Amino acid sequence: MTGSGSQDARAAAAGTAPSPGGARAWARYFRRVVPYVPGEQPAGDRLIKLNTNENPYPPAPGVAEALRQMDAGALRRYPDPTAGALTNALAARYGLRPEQVFVGVGSDDVLGTAFLTFFNSDRPILFPDVTYSFYPVWAGLYKIPYETRPLDADFRIRPEDYGGANGGVVFPNPNAPTGCLMGLSEVEDILRRNPDVVVIVDEAYIDFGGVSALPLLARYENLLVVQTFSKSRSMAGIRIGCAFGAPELIKAMLDVKYSYNSYTMNLPSILLGVEAVKDEAYFQETVGKIVSTRERAKERLSQLGFAFTDSYANFLFIRHRTVPAAELYEVLRAHRIYVRYFSGPRVSDYLRVTVGTDAQMEELYRFLETYLNGR
Ligand code: PMP
Repeated sequence: MTGSGSQDARAAAAGTAPSPGGARAWARYFRRVVPYVPGEQPAGDRLIKLNTNENPYPPAPGVAEALRQMDAGALRRYPDPTAGALTNALAARYGLRPEQVFVGVGSDDVLGTAFLTFFNSDRPILFPDVTYSFYPVWAGLYKIPYETRPLDADFRIRPEDYGGANGGVVFPNPNAPTGCLMGLSEVEDILRRNPDVVVIVDEAYIDFGGVSALPLLARYENLLVVQTFSKSRSMAGIRIGCAFGAPELIKAMLDVKYSYNSYTMNLPSILLGVEAVKDEAYFQETVGKIVSTRERAKERLSQLGFAFTDSYANFLFIRHRTVPAAELYEVLRAHRIYVRYFSGPRVSDYLRVTVGTDAQMEELYRFLETYLNGR
């Protein structure tokens, strides 16, 4: 007797018909995907969390104030499906027209929508072999063929690898998890090689010292620049991301968005996002603090025997000259200092360490110094 008999009996008892295709025949029609694995969000506050590239400072004070003043009664209504207040604020901040701005639920939502909208060809899309590990996941979800291009020996993207027949190009600048930055001329080199497909530049970390590709929008109608409020604006918890591009690209993304959910942006995120964009001084100040902590971290970690890429992001990609990364990851974790470890090829010697406050970083150096000396 197989399990299906008892399942049929259970189905009959529950008043449902047995499946004619055998046990759980419906399961064969599931869309099977290998999901992205986000960094751990451990509970408790007696820990140092340097594992998901969150900003260690609170969002702009106007965000907290707007949150206090928020009228719960307003939640009765659907939000503005165009999220007009936020798209207008972003357009004004970046010197663009509102028709050039798309907003979504974190840049993951924006990137996922962009993959679905623009990468719809039989040719493979291209991205680096070491990069944001969500790209192959969206490609898998949407059945988009892809090919990776290896970073060079110094973990740098080689623009000349991103030409030829392809279905589109996507890369982060600075790259993740390496933090390596390409200059505007290299980004433009990739655009010049790809006039017939959409090129997505994922600028999740651009505010920490990079030069944005936004000025290239004036010359490249196939460029989409994606940014996030999760890092430099310290609002990972509210989930806001945005894309900037030619009106034709933005319209195509909106058509796709309106084809699965008109109201991706909830009322609080629209209101709080506007407050964050308004406070340019606070944005510059907190980004400046993170950049100087990062540059100091390069000196301190080098004294402790670490090698690293020259990161322009709010994280460092570090390798100890003698101690394996997996070991350091475990001992740090046991000490309630969380960093990120990726076990894949080329990266398993490294730890990705988010830049925290000076005090958090001091505790990291103290612990590492003691551990490395006592080993
Ligand atoms: N792009 C890159 C390169 C990232 O590292 C991240 C953070 N995981 C994201 C996009 C997505 O961030 P969010 O959805 O919080 O905007």
